[in-house]
Amino acid sequence: MDAPGFQEPIRSAEQAQARGGTLRQQAETILRQAGWDLPTLPIIWSPRMNRCAGLFVVEKDRRGVWHPEIRLSIPLLRRRDWPWPQQVCGMNCRNPEEIVQRILEHELIHYKLWKDGVDWGHTDRFRVLAWEAFGHQGITHGIGTES
Ligand SMILES: [Zn+2]
Repeated sequence: MDAPGFQEPIRSAEQAQARGGTLRQQAETILRQAGWDLPTLPIIWSPRMNRCAGLFVVEKDRRGVWHPEIRLSIPLLRRRDWPWPQQVCGMNCRNPEEIVQRILEHELIHYKLWKDGVDWGHTDRFRVLAWEAFGHQGITHGIGTES
């Protein structure tokens, strides 16, 4: 039995990323820590997103099945020359990994609401969830714009 003080601390997503963890694992960790029992979804880096840092999309395939996906902007999120700290979701981020973490959290809220079958836009419910689950004080990215 582990003595209290000897338990492994919860690994932050930033650390997981630094250790070679994938975005999918990072999303899985976020979902678990938020207490949301949801399957992970595809997360892809997009070279063509120049205006918004992250996007949650659902697309219908030819058989009428909806597929959720999160897209992250390579041009905006791989930039390392931002003036630091950057405000993202109303929180100060001190490095690119923290920005990616905040954006993922934000997009996963859209995903959660979509799964719940409710309006998954920037509603009051979104705002409450963002605050309760992640401590976000804002529902805008601060980096780029988001539709
Ligand atoms: Zn959003």
